Amino acid sequence: MTLPSTAQAAVVVAYNEELQIREYPLPQPAPGGLVAKVDCSTVCGTDVHAWEGVFAKLRPIELPITLGHEIAGTVAALGDGVTVDSAGEPLQVGDRIVWVPDSCGHCYACTVEKMENLCPNRRYGYFVNADNAPHFHAGFSEYTVVPPRSARFKIPDGVKSEWASASSCALRTVVNAFSRLGNVDFTHHVVIQGAGPLGLFATAIAATHNPKKIIVIGGPETRLAIARAWGADLTISISDHPNPADRLEAVKAATGGRGGDVVGEFSGGATAFAEGLGLAAPNGRYVVAGTVGGPDQTLTAHQITYKNLAIFGVASADASHYYKALQFVDANSDRFDWDLMLGSTYGLGDVTTALRRMQRFEEIKSVIVP
Ligand SMILES: [Zn+2]
Ligand SMILES: [Zn+2]
Repeated sequence: MTLPSTAQAAVVVAYNEELQIREYPLPQPAPGGLVAKVDCSTVCGTDVHAWEGVFAKLRPIELPITLGHEIAGTVAALGDGVTVDSAGEPLQVGDRIVWVPDSCGHCYACTVEKMENLCPNRRYGYFVNADNAPHFHAGFSEYTVVPPRSARFKIPDGVKSEWASASSCALRTVVNAFSRLGNVDFTHHVVIQGAGPLGLFATAIAATHNPKKIIVIGGPETRLAIARAWGADLTISISDHPNPADRLEAVKAATGGRGGDVVGEFSGGATAFAEGLGLAAPNGRYVVAGTVGGPDQTLTAHQITYKNLAIFGVASADASHYYKALQFVDANSDRFDWDLMLGSTYGLGDVTTALRRMQRFEEIKSVIVP
């Protein structure tokens, strides 16, 4: 495969506005790195937030930026020295891959904590000025650059590119969440807050642990139907139960009055975290993955003490979770219809439409095929 000298990317030139297509010089891969042709990118809620300008309030960002960080690509060019993927499998031009964002390798998080997901220098396209070389940092583009330090994994043959790209953000976060939680088994009631991509993947992973019961709280009904198809024993509709007290009562009624032994916050709702403390059973474990912004929340802190709760935050994921997410999708493709989560497919010129539809919760995961 020969690389073209230039390629197109859809870039954000103004927040909340139509994306523009720009043509940039396509670099050759750096030693140890790769250049991949983008097969597809699934749209993440974080892409929508970046397009809305949420991150510009948290750190200095120069426009234009490129979006798309759930990417499945085909290796178009290998940098010097690249012969295997990060799991040791032979890697060649033409192989499909997902990869992990670039972290710096020399900060406290990278070296002492060994938690690349906490690296403050981890690089996403929505932090980087796309006009600066190497230009291709993200997925809403024809090609993209895989930096030398980025772990990369071959996509198993049985895994569609759309499933792989969704695995590389939403699912890997949920894989990390369950690794933070520890054992989940037949003695546990699992309560999942949220029926978006995170909540649905969490339902599927929880189902493979065969817990006593899985209860999913969320909406709309189309998403709750997928939750039931993927293993939820009970779904509680937010629109039917707009009052948190009613949702708590429904959870208590379904758990013998105890609440969730394991509770997952995968919704990002404005009061979801505070509500989850109430949903947890005594000695429960609560994992918080969905709340990435929003207002401050008023919570009843003594519930943590009296219930002896363990609370885990989940910030993104490391390379191991990317690998395990791909393996999970492959191993369970007969059990779960992963296509149920996918929305419509859009070209590079229609990314703005996809973002708007995601913003209005009209699609769970739009797919961009450049
Ligand atoms: Zn994401
Ligand atoms: Zn670092």
